[in-house]
Amino acid sequence: MNFALTEDQQLIRASVAELAAKFDDHYWMEKDQAHEFPQEFYDAIAGGGWLGMTIPEEYGGHGLGITEATILAEEVARSGGGMNAASSIHMSIFGMQPVVVFGSEDMKAATLPRIVNGDLHVCFGVTEPGAGLDTSRITTFAKRDGDSYVVNGRKVWISKALESEKILLLTRTTPREDVQKPTDGLSLFLTDLDRDHVEIRPIRKMGRNAVSSNELFIDDLRIPVEHRIGEEGKGFSYILHGLNPERMLIAAEALGIGRVALARAVQYASERVVFDRPIGMNQGIQFPLADSLARLDAAELILRKATWLYDNGKPCGKEANMAKYLCADAGFEAADRALQTHGGMGYSEEYNISRFFRESRLMKIAPVSQEMILNFLGANVLGLPKSY
Ligand SMILES: Cc1cc2nc3c(=O)[nH]c(=O)nc-3n(C[C@H](O)[C@H](O)[C@H](O)COP(=O)(O)OP(=O)(O)OC[C@H]3O[C@@H](n4cnc5c(N)ncnc54)[C@H](O)[C@@H]3O)c2cc1C
Repeated sequence: MNFALTEDQQLIRASVAELAAKFDDHYWMEKDQAHEFPQEFYDAIAGGGWLGMTIPEEYGGHGLGITEATILAEEVARSGGGMNAASSIHMSIFGMQPVVVFGSEDMKAATLPRIVNGDLHVCFGVTEPGAGLDTSRITTFAKRDGDSYVVNGRKVWISKALESEKILLLTRTTPREDVQKPTDGLSLFLTDLDRDHVEIRPIRKMGRNAVSSNELFIDDLRIPVEHRIGEEGKGFSYILHGLNPERMLIAAEALGIGRVALARAVQYASERVVFDRPIGMNQGIQFPLADSLARLDAAELILRKATWLYDNGKPCGKEANMAKYLCADAGFEAADRALQTHGGMGYSEEYNISRFFRESRLMKIAPVSQEMILNFLGANVLGLPKSY
């Protein structure tokens, strides 16, 4: 068993950390408070060639695996950029996987090089108000009309839609009642987010405010047939293909926030003197931080196993789900404990800990909730009766 990162992977970690360190707490706090997309950070990551790290070389990328992508995601979050930084590049790093695997040559040639150079922003439109986690219940409908589809419906929570030129859009093409399996009859498109037919309304939210999340009102959006990915009706299976690496990427981002929160807590606990001693001398402060270190390191191990399995073409559903579950928990717990360590200052905006706290909470909900992970493990791994 070899736990060591390769020299190339270590280099990726060090290079990304160096680049991300150029964007300090002040930058991220300002972007968060102004609800402003971190364009300078995005440009720097694109300029460094990092956006294309998992895109095949023939389209200008580096053709690297999810292991390298998670190292990048962890370092970006760990720099203090947290989810504001990670979400600004998340879709480019691995979100185009359905296009890479199932898209037509024309689609790949037209879009992937533009992802690599940072010119093309894409958002991912799955969630709907009436469906929740039960994706088979989405009702946004693409009706075939000659050489195109006409789409009507509503999406919610679509991150980065404000900044995006295109959307990876999941719709129904056959009503749920007319298909055998509820997840049949869904189709996936990569198409233009035409503002004349899609109204985009940002949602006011608890954190990660540098990257918008939006309601979309889609009204007679015409999509050429060539913008469909793969076959009609198989969209859900194409999305499933990308779900495990997506869980790993999110896990890495949660881990990165947990690590930066822990580091800040350790620093504060060493410096802050109360009752004539650094507060970190008290076991009530020290033990939770030491416990978080153990939990973050353990969560990282299952993440490393998951990414290794995926990159080696082996089944990884169990490990990918566990990694998301454990990293999200460990990351949030570390942020919570960092806040407690900072006392009143933790609650202020000045120390950025409250920003980490708000952002780390997100990964327990999205892109899939902790409960749905347990549902998956209970039913698919333990073989217990399915409840959903
Ligand atoms: C900041 C943010 C950004 C997002 N970005 C995107 C995006 O870019 N694109 C996109 O498509 N979506 C996005 N989402 C949506 C996100 O994926 C969903 O919020 C998430 O999947 C949870 O779905 P829901 O909110 O509809 O919860 P619901 O389905 O309404 O569930 C509510 C609660 O009930 C629990 N629950 C439901 N059913 C069960 C069950 N059978 N057993 C146990 N518990 C259950 C859930 O775990 C959850 O805690 C984003 C969400 C947020 C908050």
